Amino acid sequence: MPSPVPPPSPAGTQRSAGTLPPAGRYAPSPSGDLHLGNLRTAILAWVLARRSGRAFRLRVEDLDRVREGSEARQLEDLEAIGLDWDGEVVHQSARADAYDAAIGDLADAGLVYECYCTRREILEAPSAPHAPSGAYPGTCRDLTAAQRAAGRERMRELRREPALRLRTDVTEWTVHDLFAGTVTGGVDDLVLRRGDGVVAYNLAVVVDDAAQGVDQVTRADDLLSSAPRQAHLAHLLGYEQPEYAHVPLAVSPSGARLAKRDGAVTLRDRAERGEDAAAVVARIGDSLGVRDCSTAADVLEHWDPSTLATTPWVVDLPA
Ligand code: GLU
Repeated sequence: MPSPVPPPSPAGTQRSAGTLPPAGRYAPSPSGDLHLGNLRTAILAWVLARRSGRAFRLRVEDLDRVREGSEARQLEDLEAIGLDWDGEVVHQSARADAYDAAIGDLADAGLVYECYCTRREILEAPSAPHAPSGAYPGTCRDLTAAQRAAGRERMRELRREPALRLRTDVTEWTVHDLFAGTVTGGVDDLVLRRGDGVVAYNLAVVVDDAAQGVDQVTRADDLLSSAPRQAHLAHLLGYEQPEYAHVPLAVSPSGARLAKRDGAVTLRDRAERGEDAAAVVARIGDSLGVRDCSTAADVLEHWDPSTLATTPWVVDLPA
């Protein structure tokens, strides 16, 4: 097994042990207004961080799918429900150097290879024995120099760069989650940089959490299955593995993940119907079994995390 990449190298790209306080975080993608489920996750992230004496960081995940004006509205909404955060808001779009440095560290340790596969080829390839389902089958992992040259030529024709993948020697990794307990999940040769040159979410999130001192990752539980591969990547980069807290998604009465089409699901939609931010926080408080909350601070004071239901929050709003 290759030895882990030695910890901290280039200036500012990684967490320098001891200089940053432990922190929780909320990391929205600015692709539209936050809905009630997002706001609940944000409150829970803030509460779990504050009640454990952690700092709270905000990070805007704006590598793609950015909607104009969305970030400012999201930050306004987070303030309106009573959240505050420490330090500057970090933007992923400004962190290319840190991602390059991390990929460079992994490459120096022999843990990166170029991949010339198209999405279709990956889907159609037979999977490797014992690999988790959906895992990259390893097609480009051990190519000869001639095969790599042919792959690059093909990429030139397709006018894209080869993707960069992690060369991992594990097939699974174990994380600890505050709500789900010990979770073991599949790890494969995940993409570090996509063929369009954009750094992969899995790499960015791990590099950023480490750089912000984040040792508690609270987010919606649709990302629980990504936690093992992210924790493994953190390990390879010499970072401490964070504690996770995956909280249930919000769903509509039909059981589908809550979305804009479900009606008045954002703070602004609610305001148009005469429901202010305090009333929205009261709804969120109710969903957590705490009555009469009007700001996140009330949830902090009265909510007991051990009572969190692990089933989705069914959001049933008056028309
Ligand atoms: N940016 C992601 C989202 O809004 C969250 C990623 C994370 O918390 O790790 O769904």
